[in-house]
Amino acid sequence: MEKSDRRQFLGLIATMALAAPLGVASAVPLELQEQNAPTKGSPNTQNHSGASQIARKDWSRFSTAYFTYPCFMEKITKEQIHRKVQDAVESNSEVLMFFIMQEGYALYPSKTTERDPFALDFDVLAEVAAAAKAKNLRLVACWMGVHGVSRLAELHPSWTWRDAKGKPAPRFHRMCLNSPFQNLLLEQIKEVVTGYAVDGVYFDGIYELVEGCYCDYCREKFREEFGRDLPKNPHDPLMTRFRMQAVEDTCHSIRNLINESAPSTLFIMDTLGVRAYESFGQDLTQLRRYLDVFLLEAYWEYTGQPIWYVGMERRQVAAETRKPVWFPCWFPLHPNGNFAPIPKATIRLWAGEALVNQGAPVCVEQDLFDIDRSRFPTLQTVFKGIKKISPYMRGSKPLPYAGLLHSVATKELLISNRALSNTDNFKGAYMALLEHHIPFEVITEGTLSFHDLKRFKVLVVVDALCMTQSNIEAIRQYVSHGGGLVATYRSSYYDEDGHLREHFGLADILGVDASGFLLREGPIGPEQLGGREAVTYYRIAAGNPLADGLEGDFSSLSGGVVKVTPQPGVDVAAHILDYDYRKQDNPDRKWVWWPGKPSYPLITTKKEAGRAAYISGELTLAFWRHGLPEAGRLFVNTVRWAGGTPPFEVQAPGSVQVEVCTSPALGKDGLLCMFSNRTANPLYLTNRSGAEGAYQYVREVVPVHDVKVRIKTPASDIKETLTITGRPVRVHRASGNLHLSLPVLDEYEAVIIG
Ligand SMILES: [Zn+2]
Repeated sequence: MEKSDRRQFLGLIATMALAAPLGVASAVPLELQEQNAPTKGSPNTQNHSGASQIARKDWSRFSTAYFTYPCFMEKITKEQIHRKVQDAVESNSEVLMFFIMQEGYALYPSKTTERDPFALDFDVLAEVAAAAKAKNLRLVACWMGVHGVSRLAELHPSWTWRDAKGKPAPRFHRMCLNSPFQNLLLEQIKEVVTGYAVDGVYFDGIYELVEGCYCDYCREKFREEFGRDLPKNPHDPLMTRFRMQAVEDTCHSIRNLINESAPSTLFIMDTLGVRAYESFGQDLTQLRRYLDVFLLEAYWEYTGQPIWYVGMERRQVAAETRKPVWFPCWFPLHPNGNFAPIPKATIRLWAGEALVNQGAPVCVEQDLFDIDRSRFPTLQTVFKGIKKISPYMRGSKPLPYAGLLHSVATKELLISNRALSNTDNFKGAYMALLEHHIPFEVITEGTLSFHDLKRFKVLVVVDALCMTQSNIEAIRQYVSHGGGLVATYRSSYYDEDGHLREHFGLADILGVDASGFLLREGPIGPEQLGGREAVTYYRIAAGNPLADGLEGDFSSLSGGVVKVTPQPGVDVAAHILDYDYRKQDNPDRKWVWWPGKPSYPLITTKKEAGRAAYISGELTLAFWRHGLPEAGRLFVNTVRWAGGTPPFEVQAPGSVQVEVCTSPALGKDGLLCMFSNRTANPLYLTNRSGAEGAYQYVREVVPVHDVKVRIKTPASDIKETLTITGRPVRVHRASGNLHLSLPVLDEYEAVIIG
């Protein structure tokens, strides 16, 4: 989107009277935001508090969950239902998620919806609810949402999604939320939450897709609201906002209904993470007002994404929503096609990831165990351990060190410009911090205030293009009170509306003056062969504290660099090198570009009350795209320089992640340590690596030996140490530190130190 379009877009949003402008942190204090949006004119809202509220928050934060549905296209029997409930119990699950609608048919006697012809003789939902209660399981009643409702599509063809030419979806029936489908959904929910003892409702798909919908209801609603026809271009910003509004209205209505009818019921929805904003019309920063829990739908093992990447998305969603984000794993290979089970190692790897990312693990069973039970014992073992520590995971908080900013305003600007890949700098930073065992939390502008920043030793702002003036002032206050800052590349170049600032916002805090960009990218070689200046070389200054093992090293990065001049008193820790142009005059012209003399700074450091460092180039993008070790290490050195010693240090390969948390259940001296080992095959073969359509499941995780963690913590007696796998752990205190070592780490571990 052009800058002017962006302005128009934001202007339109403002006139739509949303509670908060898009991408800008709401002015409502955090404590108030934590309450769910009040029901307009609902007298019952006042009851929506007290003991039930605390209890539901408790189990929603972290539990083991078993997600299943009854068989398809055959008689559903009471025996099947009881077997499934029994499986949930025996798998060590605390929550049972159960589909109560099958392809648009109800699995209970409904006044609004036709009954499933395969379950006419008994009330499936009543049977499930009674069995779950008897077994002490929390029950979540599940809906598919706008898809997987073929019977409704058959009965109400006018409710289905239409493209701009009026054609329905080709094979996947999808209902439009602006049609009477929304009302039917609400009626169904009311029947279920008032008629049955359910602890939560889940929706696998409340969305309006990127294509936009041109059904009669959408056309009419749009004309009513905007006095003109739906834009022909489905990517028109107004259409995007219109889609988001339909999703938001639906969630708001569901919230109101729950508040009025059954306030202790949790409202849970799936989301596909940061992409959901554009592709599915889910504006998570708005939807957080209505939802209690999000479930991050990700098929990492199928799409060839590394699993830590899914963990990153989980943290981004958690930061955007400030709600619990559950962490599912599909036990059949792929939910829509292949029913064969995933490898056991993949299951165990997922368990470790749920632990280190503090996402409640959800086993999406999908009726697999009726066909093949070979993975059931693996699930039992994994959940047995995790269930042990569920009470400690609830409300646990990581030992604070670095806050890594995930800028929602930047994400929205990039999405509206179709340039989401520009977040590669963030991904590289995330990966580098992970590999070097730097403790960090992902935060958004929503918590970018001096008050919220105070707990961190260092704030890391990686190419966060858009930043409000109040965010900048909060950072200024934070640094002037001793907080560390690392900012990179184009951070704060734009304001929150996507307007380019005359001087970039953080410039004076960082102590630099900017004078333009240096962009070197493209194939190596002479211009005649399609090449241009290919790379940016840099050298790390010897004797600089940031060098720390990289003294005098030389490396390169692709992408852009901001040309900056340091202000007086500001040091340069690494320099961009100019080219040695004399050597380019080679007759063959196939030589690389030779490095020359130092030119602009790559890293500047300013030391006042707090330490502030600026990385002017796309160092973390270079790490993400090419993995050059110097790039990751130099970035991490910069973070450590600005933040000082982290609260804990890990001695293990970069493929091991360790998180250390305090927990209300452990008192003030207790700690919870979680471990994930991703030392797995295959490291590089994914369906993006040139092997078209090929991807590899993780089938083996190589154990890591002698993992050591040194934690700075006040000395006191260690009363109890417990590992969830039963493997040995050694813990002792010495010179103000707690030393923890695992002789062997398989896929995952959690240690409770009380
Ligand atoms: Zn529609």
